[in-house]
Amino acid sequence: MLHNAIFNLMEYQSIINKISEEIRPLLNNGKVASYIPALARVSPNKFGMAISTVRGEVFSCGDAGERFSTQSISKVFTLAMVMDSMGDALWERVGREASGNPFNSLVQLEYEHGIPRNPFVNAGALVVTDCMMLENAHPLDDLLDFARKCAGNPTLDYDREVAASEKATGHRNAALAWFLKSYGNLVNDVDKVLDVYFHQCSLAMSCTDLARAFLFLAHGGTDPVSEKIICGPRQAKRINALMQTCGLYDEGGEFTYRVGLPGKSGVGGGIVAVMPGELTIAVWSPGLNSAGNSLAGSKALELFTTYTAKSIF
Ligand code: GLU
Repeated sequence: MLHNAIFNLMEYQSIINKISEEIRPLLNNGKVASYIPALARVSPNKFGMAISTVRGEVFSCGDAGERFSTQSISKVFTLAMVMDSMGDALWERVGREASGNPFNSLVQLEYEHGIPRNPFVNAGALVVTDCMMLENAHPLDDLLDFARKCAGNPTLDYDREVAASEKATGHRNAALAWFLKSYGNLVNDVDKVLDVYFHQCSLAMSCTDLARAFLFLAHGGTDPVSEKIICGPRQAKRINALMQTCGLYDEGGEFTYRVGLPGKSGVGGGIVAVMPGELTIAVWSPGLNSAGNSLAGSKALELFTTYTAKSIF
């Protein structure tokens, strides 16, 4: 066991060091998200990677300790809370299929009568946020507590500047929310739902925080470090399945083909992937590809699963 741990320590660390060198030429090929003005200011040269193993080991390189805007990655926390509190009733309001459309698309919502395709497209995440607000008297505090518990880090916080910036410019999300309301699939006041949603997206975390926070998904719902139960094994399996099919915007097939792990990305340039039973790996590089996924981050994860031969397939 000791030998194994030492072997992995050297192996994982040297693999991520090597990857961070190899992806360097790609850092300027992506485009930093600019539709949220506060995100446009982030340097495209940032790159970090962190691994957390179910045995409690941590490996990191580059800017892995720097906090960035988790954006859509935070949708996994809200979903885990709501799956726990609402059970299957959630699925009467949101589907579980890949959308095959951009994450902020309005058209599909009309064709499908106000039921979003999945919990990770923006329309679906707005419904999940609405559900979370029905189940929690203090949604922003409760969500923050949940994320802090998952990450084992009581200092995590929202980035209020990013939340305000998105609130000022998030007209498409406002349109989606009003559209959902018109179909009767948003219960709370639209402005209140948007406010919680924008704060949720602004949650600032580092790669090290994210790798640790997703560890419960690699360990049947229980954080192996703190031994706290975050969700049941059935929910953990289902969240991984949803990340595999719907977690990478309109590029889930490509990511599955190239990386072979369930994952969740955000327009802040973060991606977290889960190897059930073994580890989680978080990567951050703000330059995005045309699908909205971190360009160098996707490549880094592809190289990781290539070098380690780790995949769920
Ligand atoms: N706050 C972003 C939005 O709603 C999240 C997008 C994302 O990361 O996918 O547009």
